This record gives sequence, structure tokens and C-alpha cells, in this order.
Amino acid sequence: MMNKKPVLIVGSIALDSIETSAGRRENLLGGSTTYALVAAGRSADVHVIGIVGDDFPAEGMEIYQRYASCLDGLVTASGPTFRWGGRYHANGDNRTTLFTELGVFAKFNPVLSSNDRNVALVFLANIHPQLQLSVIRQTDPAALIVTDTMNLWIDTTFDQLARVIEKTDILLINETEAQALGNDMSLDQAAEKLKAMGPETVVIKQGSKGATLYTATEKIDIGIFPLKQVIDPTGAGDTFGGGFLAALANGDNYTKALINGSALASFCVEGFGIEQLVNCNAAELERRKEYLADTVST
Ligand code: ATP
Repeated sequence: MMNKKPVLIVGSIALDSIETSAGRRENLLGGSTTYALVAAGRSADVHVIGIVGDDFPAEGMEIYQRYASCLDGLVTASGPTFRWGGRYHANGDNRTTLFTELGVFAKFNPVLSSNDRNVALVFLANIHPQLQLSVIRQTDPAALIVTDTMNLWIDTTFDQLARVIEKTDILLINETEAQALGNDMSLDQAAEKLKAMGPETVVIKQGSKGATLYTATEKIDIGIFPLKQVIDPTGAGDTFGGGFLAALANGDNYTKALINGSALASFCVEGFGIEQLVNCNAAELERRKEYLADTVST
């Protein structure tokens, strides 16, 4: 494909235990990097930076080998892999973190190989802003930096997060986080405030209401692909980010990037962990993209 560029993803790699109204699963392959990789890796060339423990399952490594084209920066350290447990409430959106066991993630020090340093598109998936800053310092200054984050860092390490946002070209953020940063402004006002912090483009993800992208001159809204049942909302945002970035890496415009991210996210929430994302076939993905294209308004 013309204009195809590699993407570098840096985030968390976890084994998740998840409870939703649809059931309960333990030690699912998860973490922001995993979702973003599986979404992006089906159409783009993906480099991964991350850390796993010596208990990381062979099936997990097989997924990384299948979807990534460069794993120079994937370290296996002695000790347990990062584990996260969460429970979703009946309305599906609010969740409670049951436990966070950092394991080897506590010693994560992202190091970019010479192959990784030249990558033109970098996805800083949700991790501690200090680690995101360390990656920014190692990348090509001309690289496009796409950043995601979470409420925890807004509440606990705002100054470091602000330094990451200042160096970010495209900020992906969810509605609650945007409102926390924007002091309960409307989404339009919060987007303006966020753009004033550095990024040229801000995308506000709104769960089952879709997403809105803001540039200096444009506002693009996208809806969702309607689903009969949401099984597990974990990773929707990371999947959206991976799909969005892969489209940009392949030379697509923002509208197509929103469509790709939203279509892949709709598969993600239809199963536990990455199961439906891995299973989704090209024809059904195309059908969802066509549906989503009709929900776009500018
Ligand atoms: P997470 O923290 O769980 O990874 P997030 O809060 O960052 O998620 P969301 O806003 O929940 O991200 O979801 C991102 C995108 O996923 C939405 O913009 C939408 O395209 C898609 N999505 C989320 N929930 C649904 C749903 N119930 N049905 C269809 N698509 C959905």
C-alpha cells in the first residue's frame, strides 16, 4: 500500500481478571498495548515496546509474534507479569478496580532499539506519564505522537502528564477524563482547553455514544456500530486507538481513521479480552465500516 508507515506502540501488557454481567474470566491477555497491537497489527506494521514476566503464557507470546513486526523492545524479566482485576457494574460503563499487581511492570524502563527510533508514528498508550516522556525523548523529533491516558494520572501526576500532552500531536481521551481536565466544561470547551495545552488534534471518546475529533478548523463526530450485547468493555479505547493509528499509518484521513478505530472497538466489546477482535473477519469489518461511515457528521 502507498504511504505505509510503521507504528510504535508503548503501553502495558497484562493478564486481566474481569467480571461483567456476562460472566467472569481470569488471566486474559490484556493491557493497553495488547488491544492496540491486535487492532493495528491486522493492517499496519507494528513495533512494540513492553515488559512481561517469566510466567507470561506461550499463547500470549504467540499473539505478539503474529501481530507485531518488530519485538526488539519486548523484554521478558524474571518475576510475575502485571495483573489487573476489574468488575463492571450492571450499567456496563462504571467499573471498579479489584486489584493491580505491578509485578515486573514496576521495573519497566522503555528502551527503543535503532529500528524503533526511526518510526514515524508513535502510540503512547495508557501508562505512567514518566514512561511516556522517556519514550518521547528517544523518538525521532519529527515523529507523530499520539497519546492516550487515564484519570489516575490526571489526579496523581498532572504536571508530568501536562508535559506529555505538550509534546503530543493527537490526544485521545475519554469523556470523563476530558471533563476532569477541563473542569466540567462542555466537550467542545474541554477540547479547546486541551488543544491549548499542545496537541493540534484532540479526539474525545464517548463509549456507547461514539467519538468526536477536533482540529484547529474541523469537528468530526462519529456514532457507534450498534450491538445486541456488550460482553466486556475492557480495551475499547485502546482498540479504537490502535485502529485509528493504523489507518493514519496507511495514509488515510481522519474520517477513515475514526471509522477504522470505531469498527474494531465494536468487535472488542463483543467478547472477553481480545477474543472477538482476533476472530473478526475482513468482510464483517468492512460491513461495520460502511455502517459507521454513514454516522459521520462534520
Ligand atoms: P477503555 O478505558 O475501556 O479502554 P475508553 O473509555 O478509553 O475505554 P470508550 O469511550 O469506552 O474508550 O470507547 C472507545 C470507542 O469504542 C467508542 O468511541 C466506540 O467507537 C467504541 N465503543 C465503546 N463502547 C461501545 C459500545 N457499547 N458499542 C459499540 N461501540 C462501542
